[in-house]
Amino acid sequence: MEKKKRYSDYNAYLRNLYGERIQKISVDAGLSCPNRDGKLSDIGCIYCNSKGSGTGAFARGISIRDQIENGKIPAMKKYKAKKFLAYFQSYSNTYTTAAHMKAMYDEALSCEGLVGMAIGTRPDCVDEEKIELIQSYAKDYLVWLEYGLQSVHDVTLDLINRGHDFEAFKKAMALTRDRGINVCAHIILGLPGEDRDMMLDSARVMADQGVNGVKIHLLYVIKDTPLDRMWQQGDYTPLEQRAYVDLVCDFLERLPENIIIQRITGDPHASELKAPAWAGRYRDTFNMIQHTLEERDSFQGKLYKP
Ligand code: SF4
Repeated sequence: MEKKKRYSDYNAYLRNLYGERIQKISVDAGLSCPNRDGKLSDIGCIYCNSKGSGTGAFARGISIRDQIENGKIPAMKKYKAKKFLAYFQSYSNTYTTAAHMKAMYDEALSCEGLVGMAIGTRPDCVDEEKIELIQSYAKDYLVWLEYGLQSVHDVTLDLINRGHDFEAFKKAMALTRDRGINVCAHIILGLPGEDRDMMLDSARVMADQGVNGVKIHLLYVIKDTPLDRMWQQGDYTPLEQRAYVDLVCDFLERLPENIIIQRITGDPHASELKAPAWAGRYRDTFNMIQHTLEERDSFQGKLYKP
């Protein structure tokens, strides 16, 4: 049996809700991102490559329904999973009309065994109409809306070419809060120019903003990105593994214990990763975080002050 974690683990949360394993299936709906298609910029965030976390499945002609049906097969084999969440992961999954969003989400949720969906997007890609649509699913399904924020500091958001400021996240939260939609914010540790205090500020702000979940990522260098060029020129140094592990533990200690932790590090494709090499050893980093919390006899929320 899996050992109980010292933080509010996402899989355990799903198991508590449904009494069984819920498997997330990634969906590529073929949308784009305003920071890639020229609306805001055509280069994207400095760490993002042209795939934007996408699989390209939609462009290859694989429908949302077929992506989910294909994704169920390994999940059923490996975990005996019978219930699933559709994860609209690639690019910005509210960067289209509300009518198109409805068609995408309806197609996913019509698949057998679907208990809900997670929708990844940018905070500047939502409005009242879109949030109302997403809210309409929250009555019958588990709905998570994932906002890529990455940092709460405008100086950093500028530096990484996010194309939106922290105010955009606050506005998105004001639209989304108290509607039965669970909000998960993505935060990156190790962004250029950020020191420990700046990174830990993000934990405090997540609590203030009332998010329901957090994904903590490590900044790693992916081939053929602006960050890759910065790294090659010596203008960016990735975090050491030990420093990252300590930061994650510090971060967890400052988050309220009811915030669900959906991720504690990134998991890059080996073929795309340039640096740091240790980012390719996901399990290693994951285990170090668990051991460090044990050694400190610490847990999520230990240092949280409301
Ligand atoms: S918002 Fe996401 S998809 Fe768009 S450029 Fe940034 S990382 Fe890439």
